[in-house]
Amino acid sequence: MSIKPRFIMCICTGQCPGFKSLDLWELVNTVRREMDVEYAIVHPQLCVDDGERFLKDYIKNEGGIYIIGACDPKMQRKMMKEAFQEVGADFEKQVIALDLRNLSTEEAIKRVREAVEALK
Ligand code: SF4
Repeated sequence: MSIKPRFIMCICTGQCPGFKSLDLWELVNTVRREMDVEYAIVHPQLCVDDGERFLKDYIKNEGGIYIIGACDPKMQRKMMKEAFQEVGADFEKQVIALDLRNLSTEEAIKRVREAVEALK
């Protein structure tokens, strides 16, 4: 049985102007209800200490694929790569990093849908 991707939405504390036009719950509920994912979750801030602790607890080394909706993919790589490495996982192979800033909810849904479809 192949494991479906997990969707993690990092909402940048909820205060970032980049996500001002995004209806978080509409996005997350659409992903979990309509897309071919294991599940969808929200984290408030993945790139600080507790976010890194969460990532390490959560990822372990089970080889899953994570679609992370957050900021610039280059920034995501820079900020999360080490946490993956520390638990024997590989950011490059296991993460599809999506920049969902400054998008409408519909545009963000489309971007996630395309990423999920591209994995099939
Ligand atoms: S990973 Fe990106 S979107 Fe998430 S809290 Fe950090 S800067 Fe914000």
